[in-house]
Amino acid sequence: MDEWSGCRKDRWRAGLLASVSWCRQWHAVGGCPLPPMVTGEDHIAWRENADMTSMSAGSSTPYIPASSPRSADVVLYLDLDGVVHHEAVLWHPRRGIYMSPYQASEHSLFEWLPLLQEELAPYPQVAIVLSSTWCIRPGYAKTLQLLPKELRARFIGGTFHKRVHGADPWLLASFRDTSRGQQILEDVTRRKPRQWLALDDDIEDWPPAILDRLVACDGKTGLSDPQTLMALRDMLQKCDAALVGNH
Ligand SMILES: [Mg+2]
Repeated sequence: MDEWSGCRKDRWRAGLLASVSWCRQWHAVGGCPLPPMVTGEDHIAWRENADMTSMSAGSSTPYIPASSPRSADVVLYLDLDGVVHHEAVLWHPRRGIYMSPYQASEHSLFEWLPLLQEELAPYPQVAIVLSSTWCIRPGYAKTLQLLPKELRARFIGGTFHKRVHGADPWLLASFRDTSRGQQILEDVTRRKPRQWLALDDDIEDWPPAILDRLVACDGKTGLSDPQTLMALRDMLQKCDAALVGNH
């Protein structure tokens, strides 16, 4: 019995490895990674990431993009849950994402977004990178469709790239296991913005070297907390001053 199940396990493992190997080869194509069937959202995500290639075939090094993604003078890494609305957000396959009627009955999705827009208004040079599980579900393109047009125009990408991380379950798992701070640091390394800051309520395991870029939120109050809003204002001013100083 044990011998038979061991044999089945080996076959299963061999099949999984073959499938992962295929995914990696597909990623490594780089120049023409468009699959035969592409949905509207997939196409947008693919177009956005068309300049992103991944690891070399056969390498065990995960996800090394070959070319630079979009960047800006100042990038704001924006989380959504616990920042622009209460952290108690649920997901249902039919209903999608919605606010928990038990933990946050008085709250609604994106309720504090106008506060963010107001703070960003004096700084048209600030671009936004989505740094949230919303990048994975419902996805970057679908998330942007839910945001006001003026704010949408500031977005230049997300820390998660569906066509790079998502096609390979092991890479997706690796991305999910990486701390929020580390995900952001990796994106900063690729985009190389001149200045950047992050708005997040997930403050666990941030690399100490970048803690001074974080405007930490309380997940229950997010940007509705005047002190958080003040901290954001200070950080935006600092980024702006540093830009002017470097000219
Ligand atoms: Mg959050």
